[in-house]
Amino acid sequence: MSVCQTCGACCASFRVDFHPVELAGGAFAWGEGVPLAMTQPVTPAIVRLCGTDDAPPRCIALAGEIGQQVSCTIYDARPSPCREFDVEHAACNRARQRHGLELLS
Ligand code: SF4
Ligand code: SF4
Repeated sequence: MSVCQTCGACCASFRVDFHPVELAGGAFAWGEGVPLAMTQPVTPAIVRLCGTDDAPPRCIALAGEIGQQVSCTIYDARPSPCREFDVEHAACNRARQRHGLELLS
């Protein structure tokens, strides 16, 4: 199991905004594309994954318990901001700290 599968902190820390072309049926959708029902419109050029702007934030697509075992229920269709974020990202440890998890070196 990867460290991310026992974490999920970034999916419950930051707003996740992306272009509607990555929605299901969109020209640049990954896999099946992000289900429209999991998003809310922000501007004509931006949609947001539901829950990621809540207080506290938690992406609607995240299953499981942060810091224990998690999974992304739309993994193959997740949008580009999620694809670009990994343990190398400067904000990874910020997310882990926010959730009281041990920092990665
Ligand atoms: S915060 Fe870092 S370790 Fe945790 S799931 Fe995100 S990328 Fe992985
Ligand atoms: S779509 Fe998946 S990877 Fe992206 S924030 Fe939501 S749960 Fe995390």
